[in-house]
Amino acid sequence: MPELPEVETVIRSLRPQLVGQRMGRVQFVGQPLRRPWKPAWSRACFGLCIQSIERRGKWILLNLTSDRCLIVHLGMTGRLLVADRRTQRPAHTHLLFDLPSDRQEMRFIDPRRFGSVTLSTQTERNRFLGRAGLGPEPWQLADREWRQALRRSRRSLKAILLDQRIVAGLGNIYADESLHQARLSPLLRGCDVTQAQARRLRLAILNVLERAIQLHGSTIRNFYYGESETGDYQKEFRVYDRADQPCRRCRSTIHCMRLAGRSTHFCPQCQMKPKVDQRTS
Ligand SMILES: [Zn+2]
Repeated sequence: MPELPEVETVIRSLRPQLVGQRMGRVQFVGQPLRRPWKPAWSRACFGLCIQSIERRGKWILLNLTSDRCLIVHLGMTGRLLVADRRTQRPAHTHLLFDLPSDRQEMRFIDPRRFGSVTLSTQTERNRFLGRAGLGPEPWQLADREWRQALRRSRRSLKAILLDQRIVAGLGNIYADESLHQARLSPLLRGCDVTQAQARRLRLAILNVLERAIQLHGSTIRNFYYGESETGDYQKEFRVYDRADQPCRRCRSTIHCMRLAGRSTHFCPQCQMKPKVDQRTS
């Protein structure tokens, strides 16, 4: 599932291709998505210009003229890309936005159809993002606010990092990677975290995300940006998807366990159990 670095990679590749473009005909040519596309939206989009592209958590926001916004979620396997309209459309293409000025089109492709594209006004957009309960972007987290959010929770750090209301954009991959970089056990409870540990975790999250964005995200199974480009961060994974392999820091064997409903990868040596860990920090 695309997380913050993958979504950021997608919007950075789309911006130069899309900003300033006027949309022509919009066609729904696929199967219904999780949030169905309405025929009236195709008419409403006609002639509107794409003014800017933003990311909020894992959501992509295409701000249009006439106070409109396309809200896109890539779900598990969604792709949003620009292609020459004469090229063959891949299987599972659901939506086409014609870009008449250079004979291209924006395509929304999604084999598993957990993704969505909807049209809203800017007011609806803000209300929608408010209802989604998205917490701050990782770069907006103040040290004090972050520590308080951790200390209020009796849940494990892994569960806290996956909670979009506390910090937006992290998923399974970058939660595991950040905890390893911070040398914190995924089992450690938020309320037991010291000031130094909280700070270390916040900085590790930023470090991991910035490096992942630099490498265009992680391609494990099916993340692509542009027409078929892949990310490279998977080559630097410290723990994710590396069960039974040696830790890159201490050579201990990476473990995998079920936590917060997700597979969780960690080094039992570098990310010691809560009690020991507190004594050493
Ligand atoms: Zn280790």
